[in-house]
Amino acid sequence: MDDYLTPAQIQQLRQTYYNATLIGLRKPHSDLAVLRVRPDFAIPAHKPGQYGTLGLGNWEPRVPGCQEEHLGPADWTRVVKRAYSLSHPVLDDKGQLILSETLDYLEFYIVLVRESGTEKPPALTPRLFALREGDRLYLGEKITGSYTLDPVQPEHTVIFLATGTGEAPHNYMIWHLLRRGHRPPIISVCCVRYWRDLAYLDVHRRLMELFPNYRYVPLTTREPENLGRKLYIQDLIVSGELERMLGKPLDPTSTHVYLCGNPNMIGVPTRDVKTGQWQFPQPTGVVELLMQRGFQPDEGKSKGTIHYEKYW
Ligand SMILES: Cc1cc2nc3c(=O)[nH]c(=O)nc-3n(C[C@H](O)[C@H](O)[C@H](O)COP(=O)(O)OP(=O)(O)OC[C@H]3O[C@@H](n4cnc5c(N)ncnc54)[C@H](O)[C@@H]3O)c2cc1C
Repeated sequence: MDDYLTPAQIQQLRQTYYNATLIGLRKPHSDLAVLRVRPDFAIPAHKPGQYGTLGLGNWEPRVPGCQEEHLGPADWTRVVKRAYSLSHPVLDDKGQLILSETLDYLEFYIVLVRESGTEKPPALTPRLFALREGDRLYLGEKITGSYTLDPVQPEHTVIFLATGTGEAPHNYMIWHLLRRGHRPPIISVCCVRYWRDLAYLDVHRRLMELFPNYRYVPLTTREPENLGRKLYIQDLIVSGELERMLGKPLDPTSTHVYLCGNPNMIGVPTRDVKTGQWQFPQPTGVVELLMQRGFQPDEGKSKGTIHYEKYW
């Protein structure tokens, strides 16, 4: 974009549109990042599990190796915005659970999308991954969403199931539950391709040492040792492994299941308008498997115990 806009114009656009600073950046590898963003304004009121908005101008550089983008002049000065779940720092420097409620930044856990799979190239992440600490960006002043711990009572079991960066909101919710002294089992499963795609692995291992009721279950689908017997989240349910980990049957009345990330893993059903019957997508997702076990989705008027957040 440098070819079309002068440095002075770019500087002016940044001043006009950006309201936050990237104060922390950890990259486990080139395509995965944990970002800490400090807004110029007070952190908006929010609940663990909710999402905010990040944005960057089309004038910002993109990292190389991504699907090509061809923008017309009308797009050059546009700011691209996307939704991002809030993650959360969990441990302090001494490896203990952070107790303070007040942070002056928000944490995000983001994967670089190099190819969108459609004609429309990914717009924001190729630019986010070109940022360096100290750079400015846009942060929405509103944090919102109904994917929260509101329905969870102190006696409830909580299971978090995620693909990739879908564990971002779960990290915040797990921190919150443990901090408020939640005693029943909490299980967090995260399915990724490689071990290196688990940016919070050490944090979860430490949490298991600190809290006997907490268990983290990483699933990797592409490590050499897994080839030939790839394990997906659905397999844990079908095989009964999830129940074995819990040490009891999956009980919809006392268990909340939170699903976040890839829509194929979640498998959100739709209702036939005429018959009211649920229709499930293919491949079989977790919602269908849980409904076969008596769970109901938390949607509309039905206050079930399956909660989900689709990333696309
Ligand atoms: C409520 C909500 C919360 C979200 N929170 C997060 C988050 O915490 N971390 C995060 O990395 N993403 C998150 N996303 C996805 C995010 O909004 C963007 O879609 C994503 O970062 C890609 O942006 P893009 O502009 O580069 O490409 P886009 O044009 O937005 O997306 C292009 C394609 O990339 C794929 N894609 C999108 N997100 C992902 C992903 N996370 N992993 C793998 N493939 C993906 C999809 O096939 C999508 O069609 C969230 C989405 C929603 C709706």
